[in-house]
Amino acid sequence: EKTVVLITGCSSGIGLGLAVRLASDSSQRFKGNRQPRGAFGRCPCSWHPYTSPGLGNIFATMRDLAKKERLLECVRGCHRDTLEILQLDVTNPASLASAIQRVPEQRVDVLVCNAGVGLMGPLETCSQEAIKAVFDVNLFGTINTIQAFLPGMKCRKAGKIIITSSVGALQGVPFNAVYCASKFAVEGLCESLAIVLQEFNIYITLIECGPVNTSFLSNMQSMDPEGHELQGLDPKTYALYRQYSQHCQSLFQDAAQDTDEVLQVFLDAICTPNPPLRCFTTQFFMPLTRLKLLSPDGSEYVQAMHKFVFSTSNSGQGPAGSGRLYLGGGPGAPLLCVPGMRKDTEQGW
Ligand code: NAD
Repeated sequence: EKTVVLITGCSSGIGLGLAVRLASDSSQRFKGNRQPRGAFGRCPCSWHPYTSPGLGNIFATMRDLAKKERLLECVRGCHRDTLEILQLDVTNPASLASAIQRVPEQRVDVLVCNAGVGLMGPLETCSQEAIKAVFDVNLFGTINTIQAFLPGMKCRKAGKIIITSSVGALQGVPFNAVYCASKFAVEGLCESLAIVLQEFNIYITLIECGPVNTSFLSNMQSMDPEGHELQGLDPKTYALYRQYSQHCQSLFQDAAQDTDEVLQVFLDAICTPNPPLRCFTTQFFMPLTRLKLLSPDGSEYVQAMHKFVFSTSNSGQGPAGSGRLYLGGGPGAPLLCVPGMRKDTEQGW
């Protein structure tokens, strides 16, 4: 019996990478075992069989099918009877309903809710429209998708729901308030669901990603520090935002993970019989994440994140436990230190 996987947001980045990785799985765990429909199972409009229904067990979905060429390029040569591409806009109930109809018996064993968008800028400059768009995709899109497949999973008393989550879903990040709010909400959604879903043998897993080398940053709506949207912003916020923008660029340059590294965590969660609620792709932010537990009133986290982003010494190479926040470090050195935490203590990170 093969595993049927449906992934949202496969036109680029993590979703595309995951679809390709699963399609080229050497042990062919996701290879289709159904008979092709139609003449030779080929799509009449092109050379490939992928869009012909009924072949594969990996349903790579995307909002805009016009963007499918990149995925097709990447899977060329991989198992052609493994992958099907479907249109699915997670914000559109009609699109969801028709995607489900294309899945035989509406059976999905592993649902990967990956579609997501970002929004970066001072809150007072974010339009209502932009804010709603982020919540529509990240929160309501995820809810819609889970709602669509959950009854089938409950009925079969089996299933996995994997969510592409973020360090920004666990801790606030300056000038990412709206993105973080939407991702925090998804954490609450999934943590709540997990409690009941264990009764149904359904596992829900949040993959907590730090920065990943995808087009996420360039795809996200972000206020250009030189752009007109920021005209009229108070000078202090403007200066901080400029500083944050630079920090963000260097963080992605210095610390972003390669997609392949992140995909391995997805694969592990898909293939492990009982994956945990949260899997972390990186330990990089763990010291900051743990501050929430160590200092539940939040003051230490707020100070530490402020230093991490805005302290001019945050790119220094200070020794572990020096009390300074820094990026970098040689072999064995932690990438990110926060005051009062050391790598080798019982805090154990
Ligand atoms: P990406 O921009 O390449 O991928 C996002 C995908 O979501 C795109 O293919 C986009 O078309 C799709 N999408 C957007 N709106 C959609 C809609 N309405 N319906 C269906 N699909 C839609 O970036 P990525 O890094 O691959 O992002 C994937 C996920 O990873 C997102 O949920 C993002 O929040 C999360 N994430 C990314 C990073 C990072 O640094 N790249 C870090 C943490 C979390």
